[in-house]
Amino acid sequence: MAERIAGPEIERLIQLLARLPGLGPRSARRAALHLIRKREELLGPLADAMRVAKEKIVTCSICGNIDTSDPCAICSDPRRDGSTIMVVETIGDLWALERANILSARYHVLGGALSPLDGVGPDDLNIAKLVGRVAEGGVREVILAVNATVDGQTTAHYITEMLAHLGVKCTRLAHGMPVGGELDYLDEGTLAAALRSRTDL
Ligand SMILES: [Zn+2]
Repeated sequence: MAERIAGPEIERLIQLLARLPGLGPRSARRAALHLIRKREELLGPLADAMRVAKEKIVTCSICGNIDTSDPCAICSDPRRDGSTIMVVETIGDLWALERANILSARYHVLGGALSPLDGVGPDDLNIAKLVGRVAEGGVREVILAVNATVDGQTTAHYITEMLAHLGVKCTRLAHGMPVGGELDYLDEGTLAAALRSRTDL
C-alpha cells in the first residue's frame, strides 16, 4: 500500500478535486496544495461560494437552465426576444452561446440528446415542455442549436417533427468550415457539409 503523505481530510480534498473534469490525480494534488497555501483568500471564500451555490441553485421550470431563481434570469428578462427559442443540449452549450453574445433570444435546455444506443429516449429529455411553450403561442422560430453529431441531429429531426403541427419555423446551425479553419485539416464529413451549405459571395 502506498504511504499516505497527508491526513485524511487533505486526502479527501485531493480525491474530490480529482473528480473535476480536466483534473487528474496529479493536478488535483497541485490544486489542493495551492488552495491550502491560500486558505485565507481562496480556500475559505471558495468553500463559502460552493455552500451558497449548493443551497440556492434551482432548475428553471420554464427552460431547464440552472440559476438561483425560478424562472431564471434569462426567462425573466423582458428585453429578451421571446419569439425565438434556441434549443441546446446542455447548460454548457447555453453558456457558450451567451458568451458569444450573438442573439438575445430565450433558451430551452434539453438535458442531453436522443441516443437509442445509450437508452436515452424522448421522455428522458426536456422536450414535452418545449412543445408546450411553442403551443402557448408567440414563438416564431425554434433554432436547434444542438451538436453536429448523429445524436444531436437525430434530436433536431425528432423535435422538428414534434413541432410540425404548430406552424413554427425550425432552423438548425450551419455545418461546415470553422472560422479561421484550414481546408487541409478538415475531416471529410466537415468538408462535405461545408460544400453542401456553400453560399453566394
Ligand atoms: Zn429559464
